[in-house]
Amino acid sequence: MAKTAIIEAAGGPEEFKLVDREVGEPGPGEIRIRHEAVGLNFIDVYQRTGLYPLEMPHALGMEAAGVIEAVGDGVTHLKVGDRAAYAAMPPGAYCEARVMPAAQVCPVPDGISFETAAAMMLKGMTVEYLFHRTTPLKKGDTVLFHAAAGGVGLIACQWARSEGITLIGTAGTDEKCQLALDHGATHCINYRTKDFAARVRELTDGKGVDVVMDAVGADTFEGSLDSLKPLGMFISFGNASGPVPPFNIGILGQKGSLKITRPTLFTHIADHDACQAMARHLFDKVEAGDVTIRIDQRFKLDEVADAHRALEARQTTGSTVLLP
Ligand code: NDP
Repeated sequence: MAKTAIIEAAGGPEEFKLVDREVGEPGPGEIRIRHEAVGLNFIDVYQRTGLYPLEMPHALGMEAAGVIEAVGDGVTHLKVGDRAAYAAMPPGAYCEARVMPAAQVCPVPDGISFETAAAMMLKGMTVEYLFHRTTPLKKGDTVLFHAAAGGVGLIACQWARSEGITLIGTAGTDEKCQLALDHGATHCINYRTKDFAARVRELTDGKGVDVVMDAVGADTFEGSLDSLKPLGMFISFGNASGPVPPFNIGILGQKGSLKITRPTLFTHIADHDACQAMARHLFDKVEAGDVTIRIDQRFKLDEVADAHRALEARQTTGSTVLLP
């Protein structure tokens, strides 16, 4: 049996219930993992509220780290006793232990703690694909990155610094801006007090940036397009303020033949080998000291509703973990 946080209907944080669930044995291609730490992600909020619909009842959580307890037929990259971590579908990481598909579960180097691994797999592999797999980026390029003091954001700031990329961050308070600067952002704009698109123009001598990475969504969409150079790339990868409303695709031409894409990590990690390579790249960055995973909030598993309230209220910085 394993304590597991589930919801029975989409709604607010009060929907969470902690239940005892049978864990069972792994079938072919599966493993059983006992969690030491679980990562919290904004996607968990979209699933809880119903923006990304799930069948009910459902456990939530997409990211965790722990020890492999049992291995099903055909699994060759993991064995019993291995330290491992994952970002993976289906949701269900908010628990003490689970059986799940093995393909996206990755062995974790000894130098990386369970908490660090749980705090970075989903967020860190997201940064990996944003910087290396979505559009070509090279040293000297300029990126606008929204919510730069968040979980994905602080990893992105450090990743950009390590690649010689100029990252202009945005964040909702001056303190959050300072945190982004301390982690490698070249500039950071408080977008609740300043017109960020106008400030981006000032900071780039009127040119605009090569790429915008925008997971805030509705509130920043227009300003993001206005921050790009001609032929620039708009990467929409989330909706913390609500989904981007329908728009006339013709505005991309009017604003300078802009490109637009809406990626998700789960396309990138669907292939086992690609997933393992992305995780290895992330582990290398962390082991080299280029990226430090900052955990600013820790909650017990049974405090998961409070963790969601804090994340939605913009009260968190860096990563948040749940401890079973
Ligand atoms: P964060 O820690 O970044 O938390 C979200 C942040 O968004 C808040 O702290 C807040 O920062 C900002 N924000 C702006 N407007 C709002 C609003 N109305 N309500 C709440 N927050 C708001 O979360 P994560 O690091 O987990 O994820 C960051 C984003 O990246 C999310 O949108 C997530 O869905 C997306 N994502 C997408 C992936 C993909 O593959 N497509 C994968 C992983 C994450 P501030 O106060 O500074 O504005």
